[in-house]
Amino acid sequence: MGFALRGERAPRTPAPASEALLARLAELAALSIMSASARDQMPTLASTDHLTGLWNRRAFQERLAAELERARRYDRPLALVMLDIDHFKRINDVHGHPVGDRVLIEVASRIFSTVREGEVVARVGGEEFAWILPETDGDGAVAAAERVRAAISAQTFTGVGRLTISLGVCDLDEGETASELVRLADRALYRAKAGGRDRVARAGHEAALSGYR
Ligand code: GH3
Ligand code: MG
Ligand code: MG
Repeated sequence: MGFALRGERAPRTPAPASEALLARLAELAALSIMSASARDQMPTLASTDHLTGLWNRRAFQERLAAELERARRYDRPLALVMLDIDHFKRINDVHGHPVGDRVLIEVASRIFSTVREGEVVARVGGEEFAWILPETDGDGAVAAAERVRAAISAQTFTGVGRLTISLGVCDLDEGETASELVRLADRALYRAKAGGRDRVARAGHEAALSGYR
């Protein structure tokens, strides 16, 4: 089937997050006519973040475990990027929660538009996202993270103005287990915040923080 969850880049480019509802209806229609074996391959509604159409936290954890196992078995690189919107609370405070929701959808859409086939983007918290990059080492992930950072900060958000995100990168040279990768990428993200936000930090590369601006 040509269906793909919006959290994962597939050869057939999926709909942007704003079309999440339509896409879900299409999934339901497809589920009713496809074979049981094909149905097993389908992302379920339970895996989808209902606001943005990306993978949700639970699905992220499953996908990270699966990608990690695959990377280990074939001795391939794998990187994880954690992303967090800077000063997002202000958006809600100044413009209201519905505008905040719209910004979340737009941020998700901009992140998603930069990811490559086989990569996984999930919304793992209110304004936090996780991005799994199979076949990518730390250097590659930093470059990719830098592209997303630029994609967010380069263009204003309608009615809201400029917005930035901070990102933390970790690869298999730094962390071995899924929880270690998450913890180290989170810690790097925290360093990006502490270093002034709107930047990328990488686990195990403490001195390089400002070099990625
Ligand atoms: P920092 O730069 O340190 O990340 O600051 P921040 O304001 O982004 O972080 P903080 O954790 O203080 O605030 C996150 C805010 O995100 C608080 C919460 O109201 C908002 N939020 C969480 N989930 C949603 C959501 O689904 N919709 C909207 N509109 N806001 C949300
Ligand atoms: Mg946060
Ligand atoms: Mg934040």
